[in-house]
Formats: sequence, C-alpha cells, structure tokens
Amino acid sequence: MTAGGITLTRGRSQDAARRVAGLRTEIEHHSHRYHVLDAPEISDEAYDALVRELQELEARYPELVTPESTTQRVGAPPSAAFSEVAHGSPMLSLANAFTIDELRAWDRRVRGGLEDQAPSYVCELKIDGAAVNLAYEDGVFARGATRGDGTRGEDITPNLRTIKSVPLRLRGSRPPRRVEARGEVYLSKKAFERINGERARAGATLYANPRNAAAGALRQIDPAVTASRPLQMFCYGLGAREGLDLPGHWEALAWMRDAGLRTNPDVLRCDTLEDVIAWIEKQSARRGELPYEVDGVVVKISDYAHQRALGSTASSPRWAVAYKFPAEQAVTRVGNIRTDVGRTGALTPVAELEPVRVGGVIVRNATLHNEDEVRRKDVRIGDSVVIQRAGDVIPEVVSVLVDRRDGGEREWRMPTRCPICGSPVVRGEGESVARCTGGASCPAQVIQQLLHFCGRAAMNIDGVGPSILQQMLDADLIRGPADLYHVTKEQLLGLERVAEKSAQNVVDAIEHSKDTMTARLIYALGIRHVGATIAELLARNVGDIRRLLDASEEEIAAVEGVGPVIASSVYAYFADAAHRDLVRRLLDSGVRPRSARGTSDGPLAGKSFVFTGTLAGLQRREAAERVKRLGASVSETVSAKTSYMVAGEDPGAKLDKAKKLGVTVLETEAFLRLMETME
Ligand code: NAD
Repeated sequence: MTAGGITLTRGRSQDAARRVAGLRTEIEHHSHRYHVLDAPEISDEAYDALVRELQELEARYPELVTPESTTQRVGAPPSAAFSEVAHGSPMLSLANAFTIDELRAWDRRVRGGLEDQAPSYVCELKIDGAAVNLAYEDGVFARGATRGDGTRGEDITPNLRTIKSVPLRLRGSRPPRRVEARGEVYLSKKAFERINGERARAGATLYANPRNAAAGALRQIDPAVTASRPLQMFCYGLGAREGLDLPGHWEALAWMRDAGLRTNPDVLRCDTLEDVIAWIEKQSARRGELPYEVDGVVVKISDYAHQRALGSTASSPRWAVAYKFPAEQAVTRVGNIRTDVGRTGALTPVAELEPVRVGGVIVRNATLHNEDEVRRKDVRIGDSVVIQRAGDVIPEVVSVLVDRRDGGEREWRMPTRCPICGSPVVRGEGESVARCTGGASCPAQVIQQLLHFCGRAAMNIDGVGPSILQQMLDADLIRGPADLYHVTKEQLLGLERVAEKSAQNVVDAIEHSKDTMTARLIYALGIRHVGATIAELLARNVGDIRRLLDASEEEIAAVEGVGPVIASSVYAYFADAAHRDLVRRLLDSGVRPRSARGTSDGPLAGKSFVFTGTLAGLQRREAAERVKRLGASVSETVSAKTSYMVAGEDPGAKLDKAKKLGVTVLETEAFLRLMETME
C-alpha cells in the first residue's frame, strides 16, 4: 500500500504513525483555514483525499486512533470573537460517498443495521453553504448559531435576524415549546460573483467559493455587513425539540414548510436505491443550471425509528450519506507557461499543468487568457494553483496558492517576438490581446486559419484535421485555404501514412464543400469579430459575397446588428489585396456560395427596409426577421435606395429624411397588413 509516498507493510506501524501524525497536522491546518478563517488553501477534493488517507490508515492501524483525531471530530471550535452556544442536540457532519459503489455499500450497511426492514429514502440537494442552527422557543426565534465543533457553535443571532428567509416567528397557532431547525445559509452564484468583484476592486482577498463567502458574511461582528449580503437559507432538518412529535424526516420537512421555514422544493421521497441513483444522475446533469452551488446529494433514511436504530458515529449519523459530485475544481502545479498563437495572431498564455482529474476528465492545460490576467492572478511557473472546469468551458486557472511558494517560482513575460515565426509582437493601445504581426508568413496562424476554414460551422470539410493539414503545408501542397481546391488525390497519396481511401475521402470532402452558403464562406474567412451570426447578417444583406468586397465602411455599418467595430474590421479585411485575391481564387476554383433561401427568391427580394420609432406590439428584431424571411434586407440608415420605411411612435429625424427622399413610409398597422398578405 502506498500512502503519501511512504510504502507501508504490516509490520511498519512506525512509518504509519509518522504519516498519521503528519496528516493530522496538515488536516488541522486546512480545517482551521476553512472553518475559522473562511479562506481554504486547497480544494475540497484535495482535502477529502487527505481525510480519506487518514481514515484508511486508522482502519489499518486501530491502535493509532485517538479521541482527538480529526476523523473523530466535526468542524472547528467556535472562534473567541463570538460567544458560545451549546446546541440542543449535536450537529454532525456527513459521511461521504464518492462513487455509486460507495453509495451501494452504505445502503447495504443500512439494511444490515435495520435487519432488512425496508427503508424509505429522502434525497436532497447538498447546498454548498454554511450550516446553522435556529432555536425557536414558543414559536419565537430565540438564538441562532454556527455549527462550530458540532456541540458548541458561535452565537450569530443578530446576523441571522437580517436574513429574510429566517422567520422571526413560526406560523401556526400552537407552536412547539422548543424546536431547533437546521439548515444551510448560502449565497447565489450571482451574488457570490458580485461580492468577489467588489472585493477585487477594493484589493481585498477573494473568497474561494460561495460557501466560504456565505460563512464569512455570517460571521461578521457587525450585523449591518451581514445584512448587506443577499444571504438565503434552506432548512433541511430538526434538532432538539419539545412538544413536537413527528414520525420521520419527510414529515419534518413538511412541518417546517408549514411553519414558514424555507425548505428546498427539489426533494424526492422514494423506496428503492435505484430511484435514489436516478435522481442523483438527474441532479448532477442540471447542477450547472441551479442558481446556487451544490456539491452533491444528501440521502437520508426518513423514518425516525429507523434513524434511532442506526445511530451515529462520533462525527456523522449512519442514517445519512452525502453523495459528492465529481469536483469541478482541483489543485495542481503549473509546470510551464507556453504562448499559443491563434488564427488572428492573438497570443494566449496557457498553463501546462501536472495532469489532474476535474469534473470527470483529466486536465493538462488551462488558459490564462492574456497578459493582464497572468499579472492580475500573479500566476508563476512552479505555482500551485486552483483550476476550474465547468461544462464544456476550457479549463482556467482560478487562483494561486501563494502560501505554497518556495521561492523557486518563475514569472512569465509576454514574448516580444512570436514564438513560432519570430515576427514582432504588438499590443494595440487599449487592447488586452498581444498579436504576432507575421500574418500569412506565421505557420501557427496559417494552420489555425486552415483549421477554422475547414471547421464544421465554416466550409465543413469533413476529415481534414490538424495532422493532414500540417502534412500538406510541410509538403508545400498548400499555403492557404484556396490551395485546398487544387490538391489532387495523387499528391495526397505521396504523403506519409495516407492511404487510398482517406486520400479519396479528403478530395471528396473538399469538392463537396464547394457547394456552400455565403454566410459559411464569410465565416470561414476568419475575419476578426465576425462569428457565425454576424456572417449570417452580412450574407443576408449583401446577397453576393462580391458585393462585400466593394462595400464601403458605412454600407457595412448600416447592416442591422453590425456595429462600427465589426464594420471597420470587415472593411479593413477586404481592403487588403491578399484577402480580395483569396476570395477571387476561391470563387475561380469553383466555390459556389448560395444566398440564404428566401433572400433572392422571396416576394420582397431586392427590397430594403428601415425601421424607426417604437412599433406597437412588435419587437424591432422580430419585424426585421420577418421581412428578411421574405427576401428583403434591413438597414439602419435611410438612403435613396431604401424601399420602405416602417415608422412607429416617436420616429425622429430618420422619418424626415425618408420623406425628403421620397421613400414609401408605412405605419405599423400598414406594415403588419403588408406582412400578412406576403407571408
Ligand atoms: P460536509 O460539508 O461534507 O457535510 C455536512 C454538511 O452538509 C452539513 O453540515 C450541512 O452544512 C451540509 N448540508 C447541505 N445540504 C444538506 C442537506 N440537505 N442535509 C444535510 N446537510 C446538508 O461535511 P463538513 O463536515 O461540513 O465539512 C467537510 C467539507 O468541508 C468537505 O466537503 C471538505 O472537503 C470541506 N473542507 C474543506 C477544507 C479545505 O481546505 N478545502 C477544509 C475543511 C473542510
């Protein structure tokens, strides 16, 4: 068995004792930072791994278990800044299950403990916030406390009073003599981001996650500070009670709801573990959509008689388990920072990481976005960092664990020359991105442009990926996108590891791509700021790509949805002779871009519309979409070429101009009638 680099055999309990002592010190350090200072240095996943290692060692060497061991305790003792409160009954932690197999093992233990009486389960989201205890006496909120060490917490009554979802009086005419409601105080993801944003602007240290931010907000000496944070609470259980008799947890949730205590509507009561697992899978999939952070699902046995029969260990009840979702954050080391060159020459610093598992996949690289981000986060080569991955988003470095530095870290600087072609790197005034000036002579830009050109949303040249493109470039078969259309099957067969079939597929895919849409071709060119949507707008308005080559900057800017920055980028692109030549060569090679259906053959083909003023009961965007579907184009500016002006309320100067130019003006109603006859 290997534990923390020390190989342990049965007889080597001395090594084990040393490792156990080391682990306890380390765990205590992190527990203090997390529970008392609300400022963890490592991810929960890394912390859980340390706890697991200690638990495994204690299970193997029971003689090393002591009552003070961190595995026997909950949280951390209350801070001296608050007065202490004893809880009416202990507030324990939860045992974890990190896999479905571990969940099944917990279920087997439960069934064994209940001598095979069938249990009923309640599943709840495990909200990532701070646990609190609300004590009500005769229905009146008397005291509120943090969990503390599970027995004694910190008295934070004035702070809890500021939270709107904490009722100061329970509903109902006959409240119990005494009841403790337990729940999680949390911050929404949005509120968390806002608070961290404010802290960043004020130069304060950032909270690692919404849980620490919520705990920090709760443990403020000044309740006014707590009140300024939009804290919320969900209640998920009862503690000590007098004058309240309920059969189980499911009924307790219903009772709390009726009493005015806020409970999470996302709960499930079920009778089989398979239903529990299906619910876990469903919640795991919608985790990102929830407005608050959840780190798992808590599964509880509902019946209080069953709970009593199962009992608790020193730190957690046996009748509940927390199934933890795979972490979306992890801690790892930055081995190097490299600079990637993109399609438009943009240089992006990328952290090369020691491989680490995050959200179920192994991550090796994380983007650092740009030079300013590297400075702001102060990421250095050799640093331990927290990285994050959410959904399909590229992993990014969240923060640096500065305390782990040993002085050997190296700062990174943006190179002054392109790491690929050696051309000078420039960073325009007011821009965050530095760029290689090599253009078509920079191999990195060329391959990225080709990849973009062949991409699915662009020319959709299936099966032409980085390796074959690189081979074609190396063999000088191509220098840019237009050359692709002249590559022959024989030439491809001359390349290494290219067989008859794949050569044919490549040639066919290239041939196939000639029949395309104008919008795709515009997008494929890779003009700065022109994504698929803008390409679509341009295509709809110009119809033929050749018209775009000669359009003035004003004409481009007049296309609805195209702002001045995009217009200037498009204009500058086509002002470059090399780009005009590229488009001509593509067309000469047989690329036949078609306009979107309807644009050239719809009943309003060739007509142009300008909208002005507020159109009663109609969104401007919707109106524009409707005329475009019928083949018309839409512009922001009135000219002699404008076919119709649709004028709503408060039309302004555009209407005067239209009248002067003799443009047909339609009021909203007349416009709607016209649409009805055409659609
Ligand atoms: P826990 O957070 O895993 O589980 C217990 C807690 O879950 C309860 O106290 C309660 O606050 C919460 N909870 C949320 N929803 C619940 C629900 N519906 N029903 C019941 N409880 C619910 O255990 P813990 O003892 O509070 O703390 C351990 C956690 O803290 C672990 O996730 C650990 O990784 C983390 N931690 C991290 C560090 C660090 O340095 N990163 C240090 C210490 C602890």
